[in-house]
Amino acid sequence: MNNFNPEQSLCETRREFGEHGGVTPSISRSSTFTVMDPETMPEIFGGIRGPEQGGCFLYSRHFNPTVDILARYLSAMEDTEYAVCTASGMSAISCALLQLCRNGDHIVSSDTIYGGTHALLNDLLPQLGISTTFVDPTDTAAFEKAITKNTKVLYTETVGNPTLKIADIPALSKLAKAKNLSLVVDNTFTPMMISPSRLGADVVVYSMTKYINGASDLVAGAICTTKAMVHQLMDLHTGRVMLLGPTMDPRMAYDIIQRLPHLALRMREHSRRGLAISRRLEELGIPVTYPGLESFAQHSLATDLINKGYGYGGMFTIDCGTRDRADDLLDELQNKEDFGYIAVSLGYFDTLMSCSGASTSSEISQEDQQKMGLSPGLVRFSIGYTGSLEKRIEQMERAIRTVGLLKK
Ligand SMILES: *Cc1c(COP(=O)(O)O)cnc(C)c1O
Repeated sequence: MNNFNPEQSLCETRREFGEHGGVTPSISRSSTFTVMDPETMPEIFGGIRGPEQGGCFLYSRHFNPTVDILARYLSAMEDTEYAVCTASGMSAISCALLQLCRNGDHIVSSDTIYGGTHALLNDLLPQLGISTTFVDPTDTAAFEKAITKNTKVLYTETVGNPTLKIADIPALSKLAKAKNLSLVVDNTFTPMMISPSRLGADVVVYSMTKYINGASDLVAGAICTTKAMVHQLMDLHTGRVMLLGPTMDPRMAYDIIQRLPHLALRMREHSRRGLAISRRLEELGIPVTYPGLESFAQHSLATDLINKGYGYGGMFTIDCGTRDRADDLLDELQNKEDFGYIAVSLGYFDTLMSCSGASTSSEISQEDQQKMGLSPGLVRFSIGYTGSLEKRIEQMERAIRTVGLLKK
């Protein structure tokens, strides 16, 4: 366990107040910004002035005061120098990778990743001359073996979607440093719980659509990294965020700013319930996968990586064996028990559940699904924190008995 406390770090960073002394920040909706002195304008264009150099803003696709508050809060939480917010998790991932790689370059990636990211690496980036070799995220030696003279990036998710395989980030970081590569980590499943940059990641990407926002009412992303990389991403000539333009709206930044203070509370409660329900399922003999269970293959690695006090997260899976069984369980849990909703996505206050092979991982071919250990009957749960935990456990038990998942 690590002693870093992202909640404390967030609390200690400079707090922004509203224009009239408001306890909440003001929303700066202006697309463009005026200057007092005409000399200031070329200085902003020249990078001599900016949000951090005299609080100068130019145009909201570049930097926006409200979006920049969120970026600063995120970098405090991640312990990175700086951050950029984007319009979605996918734009954060694609801009980060396109900034680090060009035509002819190569990426070594975990094979257990979000379907959209898999499509980006496997289908889209090859059209731009960037190739990827996929390896098992638990096998650091496989990453090393796949490195070629053209490799620029090692890519992984902290906790892989949906099999929950955990990447050994400190070992991957050592490898990346030895080979002069960038380690890019998607930490969407485990904000605050695990701090990849503290463990050696060069770039941490997020879909803030999930836990960080926590209300399933917006789509957003972030890239947390060095100041130098942020300035590359925002460069007026070649910056991938600046020129591809996945700009975050300041109203959206405001919404997320107001939800960050309770992210730690939410993560702990997601974790508490994840552990309680998966323990009960295990007692009943159900094939459940949860990093907090001692039976989890990488339980001790998970324990090593976690920041103390945050638990093992809100994601677990049940292998129902077949797609039909998985559908029966989903139907029972949503339509009879009111346990949660059949929906993709995660990190909501209510439980969201889906059959991964037929939904969020369906971009991945049947054969590749098998290779990454994704069973067609795997149901992924993002456990919510509404209702009483005792009732939730009863509902789950009744549903698994009804669909015949219990042998007895
Ligand atoms: C949802 C998700 C993404 C994509 O994020 P969007 O905000 O939907 O663009 C990327 N990585 C992971 C792990 C995700 O769960």
